[in-house]
Amino acid sequence: MGILTEMPLRGRGHPAKRVLSTMKLGITGGIGCGKSTVARALEQRGFRRLDSDRIVREQVLVEPTVLAALVARYGEGVVERTGAGGQPVVRRPVLAERVFADDAERVWLEELTHPGVFAAWQAAFAAEPAARWAVEVPLLFEKGLEKWFDFTICVACAPAQQLARLEQRGLPRALAGQRISKQLPLVRKIELSDFVLWNEGTPSFLEAQVDRLTDALPAA
Ligand code: ADP
Repeated sequence: MGILTEMPLRGRGHPAKRVLSTMKLGITGGIGCGKSTVARALEQRGFRRLDSDRIVREQVLVEPTVLAALVARYGEGVVERTGAGGQPVVRRPVLAERVFADDAERVWLEELTHPGVFAAWQAAFAAEPAARWAVEVPLLFEKGLEKWFDFTICVACAPAQQLARLEQRGLPRALAGQRISKQLPLVRKIELSDFVLWNEGTPSFLEAQVDRLTDALPAA
């Protein structure tokens, strides 16, 4: 396997010819493959990091309009009222069970939450216009979000490694397999990405690839 595979920059122009006042990297790949680990490594190298799943959890699923939509669709059981002042808080395992068992529900939830994620990205980019960004985007290609980013990066590993990491994180194998099956096949993400990081080895093997990636990127 190649350590760092530079893919052709389809239709985006050669990076050396581009004048970038900022840079936005979209980091995708299979769940458990190492997106967050790569984003943190980029953070240590001066990038600002945005974790889209965290934005959903902490900024979107707490919005009153989003909570009201969830309760209207799934009933009171999808929230618990343990928040300060009795505000509802989403019971994420209950929600996950609903949406991963039914594709239509998953798409509905994505449509409900994604506008809030895009708004959070916009606000972050606008607040620090000169920053370089490492944005974790699990569904980057599934949702056609390439246009948001200067370069896309796929963090990949073999399925057995992916399942083992998810199991270690407490996600049972059957549920992990179910979630993986809802994403675009990893091989397709590899094909679509500008850069691929192969995360099957030690953390330092991955760090070395991140260094090669940052060396290959055009200067801001
Ligand atoms: P993702 O964000 O793609 O779901 P994470 O970056 O959270 O994946 O990685 C999944 C798990 O695997 C985490 O617990 C992480 O610490 C661990 N991990 C990632 N890369 C490595 C590696 N090269 N060696 C050992 N553990 C790793």
